[in-house]
Parts: sequence; structure tokens; C-alpha cells
Amino acid sequence: MIEFEFTEEHKLLRRSVHEFVEERIKPLADKIDKEDRIPPELLAEIGELGYFGAVVPEEYGGSGFGEIGYCIVVEELSRGSSAVAVLVGAHESLAETTILIGGNEEQKRRFLPEMAAGKKLGAYALTEPEAGSDAGSIRMRAEERGDHYVLNGTKIFITNGSIADVIVTFAVTDPTLGPRGGITGFIVEKGMPGFSVDHVEEKMGLHGCPTAALSFKDVKVPKENVLGEVGGGFKLALTVLDYGRTSLAAGCLGGMKELLEVCTQYAQQRIQFGKPIAQQQVIQFMLADMAAKIYALESMVYRAAWLFDSGKEFIREASISKLLGSEWLGEAADMAVQIHGGYGYIKEYPVERFYRDARINRLFEGTSEIQRLVIARDVLKRGGY
Ligand SMILES: Cc1cc2nc3c(=O)[nH]c(=O)nc-3n(C[C@H](O)[C@H](O)[C@H](O)COP(=O)(O)OP(=O)(O)OC[C@H]3O[C@@H](n4cnc5c(N)ncnc54)[C@H](O)[C@@H]3O)c2cc1C
Repeated sequence: MIEFEFTEEHKLLRRSVHEFVEERIKPLADKIDKEDRIPPELLAEIGELGYFGAVVPEEYGGSGFGEIGYCIVVEELSRGSSAVAVLVGAHESLAETTILIGGNEEQKRRFLPEMAAGKKLGAYALTEPEAGSDAGSIRMRAEERGDHYVLNGTKIFITNGSIADVIVTFAVTDPTLGPRGGITGFIVEKGMPGFSVDHVEEKMGLHGCPTAALSFKDVKVPKENVLGEVGGGFKLALTVLDYGRTSLAAGCLGGMKELLEVCTQYAQQRIQFGKPIAQQQVIQFMLADMAAKIYALESMVYRAAWLFDSGKEFIREASISKLLGSEWLGEAADMAVQIHGGYGYIKEYPVERFYRDARINRLFEGTSEIQRLVIARDVLKRGGY
């Protein structure tokens, strides 16, 4: 059963984020992409508007927008710049959420207010060179020494890793126990001796949102920075990923809406054979396919978000939204380039950037193959839908 409609607050929030994106992000999106850098002033504005704290309850200094509100923020930001949306998304869906779910009261009060205000940026460091989809095989080691743990290892592909102040990470505390029981979550803070940025990747897209390899050499992490139960880190890491999937799909939805708008305008203006290409049925069919998938994805994303906010089971819905959202965004970006013809391949047109930026969604926070495994496991358990 679905009992859902956007409240007046949701509608107001969407209008505010939309205006901010139109006025402040869209004019900078190409510059961000070319220079591979998001201006700090823009991030400061996002902080002032409370968008860095959408998932954080008000009692910890956040905006308390709930999952629906958070999805609205990510959807709208993604219309302007995927790089900005992913930077905000990693900070909230991954770093803040890990502290919200796994942290104790003292940790929540110590870290979340500054993170929600955008004064401290977060990252979530799980992936390692030998442990991507198979996250349970991480090797980073955490050895207990009195009142602290000593961390040694390497993390790769960490969004915001090079600029983050608060890095939630996961390490093996007991190699004899395997992932369930042997991995623990930690909060590492920028400036802790032995923690350093090894390098920042050069990527196909998402320019401006840094992806870094991080090095941990004898990093002393005090016990008060242990996240949750010792040995409970793997479960925590996976739960956080489950939580983040709906908003990732919301980002895909924002990208698709933007592409449809850009393509509709272009197709109505571009004259070939004496008339706008929008009058060609083959172009109309592409626009129709995009619109149909936007409708379906919007229904899925906000249904999953509503389930989340209502305290109901949402994991399957989140996984399905992430799988289909990321694949449909890829198809929409491909169609958008096709509708633009040769111009779609030229950097002056935004579809070129959207095409590059779209690809990552099928890879991070669980590849499409891993989403299918998660969904299939559920289907087999239920004996159907
Ligand atoms: C830009 C970017 C940002 C990222 N941000 C973060 C971050 O902030 N924090 C973080 O911890 N990680 C991050 N990641 C890592 C990301 O989550 C991993 O890249 C992803 O989980 C896949 O792991 P992998 O790259 O090692 O690929 P692999 O796991 O090696 O997979 C390679 C291929 O094999 C397939 N495959 C693997 N196992 C199976 C299986 N059992 N069945 C079927 N197919 C399978 C995969 O689907 C894929 O197609 C980021 C990655 C990128 C590129």
C-alpha cells in the first residue's frame, strides 16, 4: 500500500533547491568540470542552506528533511552538477549516515553538528585494491593497544577522500573471525599522524568531486572513535550502503529530468530537412521513452523514500531503484547525445558532460551486478515478488 503525497514543506524545499541550482550551480557547472574543482564559496553556500545536513535530525544540528526531503535535494542538485550532488551525497548518505546509525550519543554530538553545517566534510572509506564488490575481504588492519587502535592499510576510490575532515573507515580487528565479527568501523580525523592522501584519481567524469587513494600508516585512533560494536563493522558498512541507494537513484532521476528538458528544447530548435527534428517520430520516441522512465523512476524513488520515512522495510525498493535508475540514466544520456547529433559530442553542450558523469552510477555503491544479486536473493527467499 502507498499513502503518499509531497507535503507543502517538500514542495517549498524543491522550489528553493531548484532556484539555487538554476542561479548558482548551473552557471558554474562547466567551469567545475573543466577545472576539476568546486569553488569553496559554493560549498559554503550549500552549507548555509542546510543541504549538507538534510539527513541529520535537528537535535544534532541538521535540517531533518527526512529521506523524502533528502532525495529532493539530491535530485535537484543533480540537475545542475553531478559532481556537486555526489560530493554532498557521499558526505550525507555515507559519512553522516554511518555516524547516525553506528555512532554513540557522544560521537553524534561531537561530529554531526559541524558536518551538517558543512564546516567539516565527510568521506566513507571501505574499498581497497583487493576488495571492491567483495567488501568483506578488506585487509586494512586495526590492532588494539590499550586505549587506542593502530590502523595500517590502504583505501582506494574514496569520494571526498582528499578534502574530507572526517573519514569513516573499516578495518579488520580480528582476522580469525571473517567479515561478520572481524571488522570494525572507525572515525579517522584529518591530521591524525600517519593518515595521508596517496593520490587523487583522474576520472572519466564527476570532475570537481575528488576520488582519492588513502594511506594509513600506524594511525593511532582513540577508542572513543570506534563506531558501534567491535566486530560489527561489516554489517554497519553494508547497512549504510542500503540506506544510500534511494538517494543515489534520486540523483539519476534529476539527471534524466534535466536531459529530457535540454533535449526537448534542442529538438524543437534544430532544423533539418526544413523542419525541427522534434517533428521526426524517431526523435519523439526517444523523448517519450525518457519521459516514461522518468515517471517510473520518480514513482520508485519516492515510494522507497516514503517507506524509509514511515519506518517500513525499504531495502528491496532501494536496490531496485538504484539498479533501474542508474541503467535508465545511462540510456537517457546516450539518447541525449544521439538527439544532439555531432553537437552532443562537443563539450560546449551539457549533454557531453552528463554522458560522462552518468556512467559511474552503475558502478559505485554496488555495481548493477551486485544489485541484481541482492534483488535475486530476495526473490528466491520470497519465492517471487
Ligand atoms: C568515482 C568512484 C567513487 C567511489 N567512491 C567510493 C567511496 O566513497 N567509498 C568507497 O568505499 N568506495 C568507493 N568507490 C568504490 C566502488 O564502490 C567500487 O569501485 C565498486 O564497489 C566496485 O568494486 P571494484 O571497482 O573493485 O570492481 P570489482 O568488484 O572488481 O568488479 C568488477 C566487475 O565484476 C563484477 N562482479 C564482481 N563480483 C561479482 C559477482 N559476485 N557476481 C557478478 N559480478 C560480479 C562487478 O559487477 C564488475 O562488473 C568509488 C568508485 C569510484 C569509481
